[in-house]
Amino acid sequence: MKYNISIKLISKILLVFSTIFIIVAPLLNILRMNVLKGTIVLFGRYYFINEFYVLWLFLLFILFAFIFVSIVFGRVYCGFICPQTILSQIFEGLFDFIKKRTSALSKPVIYAAVLIFMAILSLFIGFNLIAYFIPPSLVIKHAFFEPDYLTPYLWVIAGFVTLLIIFDMALLRHKYCIYACPYGFIQFLFNDSRTLRILYRPADNNLCKDCTDCADSCFMKIDPRKKALQVQCVNCGYCIDACRERFDSKRETGKNLFYSFGLDEDKKNKSKNRPFFYKASIALFLLIGSFIIFLAKFSNYHYLNQSIFNMNQAFIVNNKMIANKYKLIVENASDKSKKLKIKLVNSELNLHFFSSDHFEIKPHNSLTLYPVLYIVNKKNSKNFKKGPYPVVFQIVNSKNAVVSAKNTIFFITKKFNNKK
Ligand code: SF4
Ligand code: SF4
Repeated sequence: MKYNISIKLISKILLVFSTIFIIVAPLLNILRMNVLKGTIVLFGRYYFINEFYVLWLFLLFILFAFIFVSIVFGRVYCGFICPQTILSQIFEGLFDFIKKRTSALSKPVIYAAVLIFMAILSLFIGFNLIAYFIPPSLVIKHAFFEPDYLTPYLWVIAGFVTLLIIFDMALLRHKYCIYACPYGFIQFLFNDSRTLRILYRPADNNLCKDCTDCADSCFMKIDPRKKALQVQCVNCGYCIDACRERFDSKRETGKNLFYSFGLDEDKKNKSKNRPFFYKASIALFLLIGSFIIFLAKFSNYHYLNQSIFNMNQAFIVNNKMIANKYKLIVENASDKSKKLKIKLVNSELNLHFFSSDHFEIKPHNSLTLYPVLYIVNKKNSKNFKKGPYPVVFQIVNSKNAVVSAKNTIFFITKKFNNKK
């Protein structure tokens, strides 16, 4: 029994899945930012601004994946992943249906229905895009139920995106991919003599029926018989399916179009192959390397993040005490409130806190504290050595377990010793 895998079906399934993924990514906390608080969420984990390098590492991995895939497989992102492709196909199909299959009487009603559907879908995409930068719950709350200062910004941005998408879907669709998409052309820049392409290879010239089914099936308006590597070709394989179906419909065996990593004559040409293998190997090495580094940083994750700064070094209180003021920023990335305590580690000085060393921090929140540390210069005590002294600010939980530790410095001035 003969099985023919429909490349078109695979492309459509992947396009639908990738579009759904892009829609749900911010809603399921897979990837989103909160520009109001300076946080990001990556695969369910919260990161604060000083840990954003984890996001950059992830984006670096995506960049190398993009370069590697473009070198080896060409513009496949456009053919198998890009939401613009599936949206263009949906509206292209709807407009074609109206043009060819509807009566003159029903045309305006169906046009109006398609335009309303387009507007609702575009508005949804507009708000979905905002959800990548502002938590989805806040977007829904302030755009629809509880107006506040955010409401006009949300509607202006969503409205602007909606108009752009309506313009794109009503007038451009695949024309945008053919003539304007910078992302598509950047992918083409990485093409090489052995990059995947569509090859027109009829067993003998009589085999081609000249039916133009291949060219007609191409939404990028290419005739794949003319040239093997064309800048607009997204390797979607629709033309391969169309040609095979043409033969199948006539109960004949044949196919004139194939996927191929390079032209047949280039495959044996070592000098043409070498640069391709170098480029692909370097891109693969960077791709794997960036993924390992990202994974290492991602797995080394802790819910509590601490930053400590000595704000004004040393100041003297009543000639007897010397104090240092600090700025302590604590960030709780977990979804539970935490009761914590600051503990000091310093072997040389007997340091004390002016204020309470206990605090509570809410989930997904940050807290800024200004602890002041002091030391007393008692009568007859020996002069302190000239500082600075290393101090460790530990944060411990209710079980006295250390959850974070950061090094800083305690300063002593010379003046303090002289005035005892
Ligand atoms: S030539 Fe074939 S593979 Fe290339 S874009 Fe057109 S249909 Fe897709
Ligand atoms: S679909 Fe196949 S047979 Fe028809 S024109 Fe294209 S290559 Fe020739």
